Amino acid sequence: MLSFYNTQTRKIEEFIPGGERKQSTNDYNPVKIYSCGPTVYGYAHIGNFRTFVFNDILRRYLKFRGYKVDHTMNITDVDDKTIRGANEKGITLNQYTQHYTEIFFKDLKLLNIEEVEHYPRATDSIESMNELIKKLTKKGLTYNKDGSTYFAISKYADYGKLSHIDSESIKTGTRYDTDEYTKDDVRDFALWKAVQNDEPGWQIECGYGRPGWHIECSAMIRKVYNSTIDIHTGGVDLIFPHHENEIAQSEAAYNEQFVRYWLHAEHLLVDNSKMSKSKGNFYTLHDLIEKDFSPRAIRFLLSTAHYRKQFNFTLENLKNASQPLSRIDNVIALSKNSKIEGPLSDYISDICESCISGFTEAMDSDLNVAKASASLFDLITRVNKYNSDNQLSKKDADLILETLRQIDSVFGFIFMEDTKVIDISEEEINKLIEERLTARQNKDYKRSDQIRDYLAENGIILEDSKDGTRWKKS
Ligand code: AMP
Ligand code: ZN
Repeated sequence: MLSFYNTQTRKIEEFIPGGERKQSTNDYNPVKIYSCGPTVYGYAHIGNFRTFVFNDILRRYLKFRGYKVDHTMNITDVDDKTIRGANEKGITLNQYTQHYTEIFFKDLKLLNIEEVEHYPRATDSIESMNELIKKLTKKGLTYNKDGSTYFAISKYADYGKLSHIDSESIKTGTRYDTDEYTKDDVRDFALWKAVQNDEPGWQIECGYGRPGWHIECSAMIRKVYNSTIDIHTGGVDLIFPHHENEIAQSEAAYNEQFVRYWLHAEHLLVDNSKMSKSKGNFYTLHDLIEKDFSPRAIRFLLSTAHYRKQFNFTLENLKNASQPLSRIDNVIALSKNSKIEGPLSDYISDICESCISGFTEAMDSDLNVAKASASLFDLITRVNKYNSDNQLSKKDADLILETLRQIDSVFGFIFMEDTKVIDISEEEINKLIEERLTARQNKDYKRSDQIRDYLAENGIILEDSKDGTRWKKS
């Protein structure tokens, strides 16, 4: 049974898309997922990518379980930061955000993050924002001050149900952004903002201005789905006030549940503090690639840490990712090289089956990736062990590769492009062992060590004894 931790109810809940149980996962309408996307004013950092990789694992796992998905990620292409950036560069907002949107899409590809079905941009969704503000105004939930339109929280009784924040206590202003002094009440937030001279603006029915931050997501969700959605995701920093405000706007305007399951990813930390642009403690994907780390290692690291646990990022743990990845590569190479005819062994068939069932059980439990990857590495270890005593038949190898492919449809780092598949034949290994023996007889220890290291990098371990040198796969 697939279940998720729902931030709103603070409980692990069985996942039932559409709110009504069906016979099989196949029978459900596509699962409607919305993920808050990037603000495109610079390179996203790998803290952001932690959340985006989590979205990807969620989406892929739903498909693995047989659900169809209909997934949206918005692009925030108008806010203080994008406007400031475009003005500083002396280019239009559109030119500026287009540039960073393209970089963002390239980064998603590099990390093997699947394309989703919809990528609406805030500036293409102005009409939907107009509709939403009009509905709220008709219900008497908005007011206009100094050219901006605000949502009046005091008139909305349900405020605070996601973050469990007592709406009265927000009045003190201690947990709320109190920058906008023109508001009637510190809790209120701008739906539509008056623009300064050098800012871009749009004429809608409540006035000339630009979108407030929260209205964008509510409007885009309405535009794409026009109904309650199943899952809404984002980083935990968005729970309050962003998602709380999204709920207030959407439920007040449309009188129906906005979201069934709220899933939030914990932060990626550096030296135990949140990775963020404002703190300057961030790495972009490109920073890490320049340091010679592979996108595959980065994906591995980001996808094997549970999304509800904070994760402290270090270059050291990124370095350490290469070892488990090369263990996977060795099994892939071993399986691809198998040419032996023969039956499928019961042992291999059993370990493949228990790998998939262990993986599924773990992922069903609120996407427990740590446990799920333990199932994967259990398979890897057992195949290596089996292979050192027996030889994998072609049928065994095919089943192993098929099992890895299934797991990879979720994890995405197993067969990822920069996989270094080691293709070293037995003939080559034996030749190198001979060469190493000659080098040792000639006291050329440098060469003999070189050969040992080269073979080790390729997953071949040498064992010297008085009877000669034996080799096995690591
Ligand atoms: P932004 O571009 O700032 O709007 O953020 C895009 C997404 O990244 C949001 O879902 C944020 O919650 C998330 N995010 C920002 N910083 C981090 C971090 N250090 N760790 C994990 N997710 C983050
Ligand atoms: Zn959002």
